[in-house]
Amino acid sequence: MSELSIKSVKTVCPYCGVGCGMVLDTDGQKVLKVTGDKKHPANFGRLCTKGQTSAQVLTNSGRMESAFVRNDRSHQPVKTSIAQAISYTAKRLRDILDQHGPDAISFYVSGQMSIESQYLANKLAKGFVRTNNIESNSRLCMASAGAGYKLSLGSDAPPGSYQDFDHTHLFLVMGSNMADCHPILYLRMMDRVKAE
Ligand code: SF4
Repeated sequence: MSELSIKSVKTVCPYCGVGCGMVLDTDGQKVLKVTGDKKHPANFGRLCTKGQTSAQVLTNSGRMESAFVRNDRSHQPVKTSIAQAISYTAKRLRDILDQHGPDAISFYVSGQMSIESQYLANKLAKGFVRTNNIESNSRLCMASAGAGYKLSLGSDAPPGSYQDFDHTHLFLVMGSNMADCHPILYLRMMDRVKAE
């Protein structure tokens, strides 16, 4: 394959909330290589093992590449086009809604979804289905963390700038194994600890 047909695409690591910048080399069909984005202000080229191996998950990962519908609980799932699966899901939801009302439906979405996906899921739940029953791990997880911050530190606020890492004289880390959970920020913290 000629180097000309390989395109580099800048993106953000899909895993933890550190948000490391990465560059994907792709031939248009699959991701060939993942490297850290040297210019990205979160990681300056560093990636942890999860970020570095993210191409494997995108290529031959064994994940489903098509929709499947089980026409009856006792039947095997049947391969179906995405459009058909969406229509079928919409019809089933409509039937439940008409028969049992909005609170018969609830949504459990993910904190890992993009802001746009969160918006769409909330719009669907509250604006169209008209139920308040929407929950995600972001609330389940952060409600307890927020309550803990407020009780212990007197305040719960969004995190500051990563640049603060390079200026602080004190780190207080509690209840978190940063080295495992947010490795690149941990390395950044340790760079500062060594520089002090
Ligand atoms: S620390 Fe690792 S998992 Fe988290 S965003 Fe960076 S590369 Fe991805």
